[in-house]
Amino acid sequence: MDLIVQKYGGTSVGSTEKIKYIAKNISKLTKKNKSIVVVVSAMAGETDRLDKITKKISKIPNEKEYDQVISSGEKISAGLLSIALLEIKTKAVSLDPSKFDLLTDDLHSKAKILSVGTKKIKNLLKEGFVVVVPGFQGINSKGDVTTLGRGGSDLTAVALASALKASHCELLKDDVDGIYTTDPRLYKDAKKINYISYPEMLEMSSLGSKVLQAKAVEYANNLKVKLYVKSTSKTTNKGTWVMDEKSIPIKERKIITGVTHDLKQSKITVSGIEDVPGVASKIFKPIGAAGIVVDMIVQNISIDNKTDLTFTIPKDDLNKTVKILKSNKSKINYREIIQDKEIALISIVGAGMKTHTGIATRMFDTLSNAKINISMISTSEIKISCVINQSKCKKAIQYLHKEFKLD
Ligand code: ASP
Ligand code: MG
Repeated sequence: MDLIVQKYGGTSVGSTEKIKYIAKNISKLTKKNKSIVVVVSAMAGETDRLDKITKKISKIPNEKEYDQVISSGEKISAGLLSIALLEIKTKAVSLDPSKFDLLTDDLHSKAKILSVGTKKIKNLLKEGFVVVVPGFQGINSKGDVTTLGRGGSDLTAVALASALKASHCELLKDDVDGIYTTDPRLYKDAKKINYISYPEMLEMSSLGSKVLQAKAVEYANNLKVKLYVKSTSKTTNKGTWVMDEKSIPIKERKIITGVTHDLKQSKITVSGIEDVPGVASKIFKPIGAAGIVVDMIVQNISIDNKTDLTFTIPKDDLNKTVKILKSNKSKINYREIIQDKEIALISIVGAGMKTHTGIATRMFDTLSNAKINISMISTSEIKISCVINQSKCKKAIQYLHKEFKLD
């Protein structure tokens, strides 16, 4: 059986016209003797709308009921798409996770998939149905609906592709037709990438390129599910393959694959702290306990036994973090807190860094030539990130894109 798992994002199912349009495309595929499982997101903006309504009633809504509400957008999409398919005489049925046992743990709003039942879906496919599954959700052992975290429909699609042993998983997008070397809205010469490895994609996803959910890429990597990101409407355009580095044709492998930026970070410096054991722990323990994710951390060398510690956190968590630090002032014993919201995290990503030297120097030289000051640096095996002033973000992208010949 030639089986395809396709996932359509929120913009692709954003209106009745669009739903009718993708129904036509799916119908064409069935005529080519393909078995198709379709995973759908909620119509664009719907999950946010449901979240807002709920929060109007309760600031901290009951977790189970909250998932019940915000999972409903996908159910609507699945039903509407099935209706659209039936309308054009294509056998289709929508199937909730409770009907085919997509089981998760109990962590509402960020549940982990434990197993995916395939029997029911396989039987329906054999009978010639297109099976339409609402993404972003599963059920826990009590049979309650759980959700998989924002952007979680990608995860549903990957999990289904793996469980059903599909050759690959297609992720169809309305706003982009693949993964780009950098954000085309900020740099018009950005190029579509033909092939990208899982770790590179993972870095790009977590560094601000919002095309795929990072968790889904991680999952695809673990389960070795090939992903193909392509356009919903420009059906003849080539998309981007996300796969194992070893499977990528050699001539397609690059030293640097992309330049990403993240404007959602902010920076805090805790100055005048004592250089003695336990200080970092006193600073980060309460921040961690509040569920705030700290990214880069830099500690300066000490002068007269006093030092500074600088770290980045999401902008949304800045006020909360400052408040936590202030309430722990006597415990931590610092001089002052300096906050900076106007930062950009700019990163170059590429598997080639593992085998090529001098990449970091090239990045620093390039930023220096562009007269851009670097305030923090961090590296991993396949990425180098610098914190710079937000106003220089666009310029940094342009210079780095040119330097690493991504144009
Ligand atoms: N509708 C959910 C969200 O907006 C899940 C998804 O689209 O993947 O996060
Ligand atoms: Mg999405």
